Amino acid sequence: MKKIKVLTENCIGCGACVGIDPEHFTFNDEGYSIPKSNENLDSETLMNAIESCPVGIISFEEVNGEEKENDEETV
Ligand code: SF4
Repeated sequence: MKKIKVLTENCIGCGACVGIDPEHFTFNDEGYSIPKSNENLDSETLMNAIESCPVGIISFEEVNGEEKENDEETV
């Protein structure tokens, strides 16, 4: 499963991502961006918002649906 990841501690609060894609981003109480939804991750608007970030802190992260206990992978 994929999730939006914002390194909020590095956000400069420019508002580009929230302005472009309010479906996926919102501001926290300090005026910095946080992910809002993980629906519709193939959206072009979302891609535009990610590319618009001047400090490049928006990305995707892979998360396991289950607890992170079975880390063993055979190659
Ligand atoms: S575009 Fe980047 S710097 Fe601007 S508010 Fe969004 S996450 Fe923060």
